[in-house]
Amino acid sequence: MPRVCEICQGAKAILRRPKTGQSICKECFFRVFETEVHNTIVDNKLFRRGDRVGIGASGGKDSTVLAYVMKTLNERYDYGLDLFLLSVDEGISGYRDDSLETVKRNKEQYELPLLIVSYEQLYGWSMDAIVETVGRKNNCTFCGVFRRQALDRGALMLDLDHIVTGHNADDVAETILMNIFRGDIPRLGRCTEIATSGDGYITRSKPFKYAYEKEIVMYAYFRKLDYFSTECTYSPNAYRGYAREFLKDLEAVRPSAILDIIHSGEAMQVASEVKLPSQTSCERCGYISSNRVCKACVLLEGLERGVPQLGIGKSVKKTQDLLAGRTATRSGRAVDVVHFDKLRKHAQEMRHERCTGCTCDTSAPGT
Ligand SMILES: [Zn+2]
Ligand SMILES: [Zn+2]
Repeated sequence: MPRVCEICQGAKAILRRPKTGQSICKECFFRVFETEVHNTIVDNKLFRRGDRVGIGASGGKDSTVLAYVMKTLNERYDYGLDLFLLSVDEGISGYRDDSLETVKRNKEQYELPLLIVSYEQLYGWSMDAIVETVGRKNNCTFCGVFRRQALDRGALMLDLDHIVTGHNADDVAETILMNIFRGDIPRLGRCTEIATSGDGYITRSKPFKYAYEKEIVMYAYFRKLDYFSTECTYSPNAYRGYAREFLKDLEAVRPSAILDIIHSGEAMQVASEVKLPSQTSCERCGYISSNRVCKACVLLEGLERGVPQLGIGKSVKKTQDLLAGRTATRSGRAVDVVHFDKLRKHAQEMRHERCTGCTCDTSAPGT
């Protein structure tokens, strides 16, 4: 006899929920999955009515499901958000070019505006060109540092209030484990936060913080969502790979392990004597930095000078001090990296233009 859905007691159960082990029907799965994300959003007061929210969209399963669910919840519960898709083109042929085609289809499917910012356009260097220069060893350092800034730059171009990313519970639990294994206490404190916002920078949050990766895959599958599933051609990220495997082993024995690790991470208190570096803004590009020159500018300097190892590993801090007060080296390849003050000013002007019967004062910062 076919089993009956444990939630509605009516329809036939067709799947077992990875998070709880319940046998349920498809409609009930959609409903519980979406409702849990809604609860995460409401409990943490992630948004305010009228917020312009960018969905960091890579074309992969997490961000595609996030875009779909954000749109659904915004309509169902009348959040009053203006949603956008924001993508970063790192310039990796055979990977990002294909996944961006998926995002372009998502734009049509979900009727959301899309902005793509590229490394090439922002920094004058695509990842393909960077790998050609630095090889396959430290390329992920470049990619990670450049991506963070690229999203902030794109967010200012769209005058966003908030960026949501598709990081799921497995990602968060992995990061907690990695920070414990490395003894990185300041990062351990920060990685459990659902939303981060610092000193006038755009708020970022993870509405999928408690959503299991397996359920996201299941959701995408049953909703027949259009996503791209190839891994980055340049990314081995070995250490995270070990943490991931370890976590999967734990999950197999005890499915609640993922949530348990997140709750443990949340409950850990970083002792007050652990000093966090104080933040200032980069004198070259205006990005938030704990040094006078930010890491992205150091990496760019290395690329322009033909000494890409300049900003890698232990030498970063020393190089940052060394570069302070000097102008950037520019090769034939160099582009003008737009200063963040200029982007902020542009965002302010856009905001001014949007107000009808405007009473806002564009000369005042923060309006
Ligand atoms: Zn049901
Ligand atoms: Zn900088």
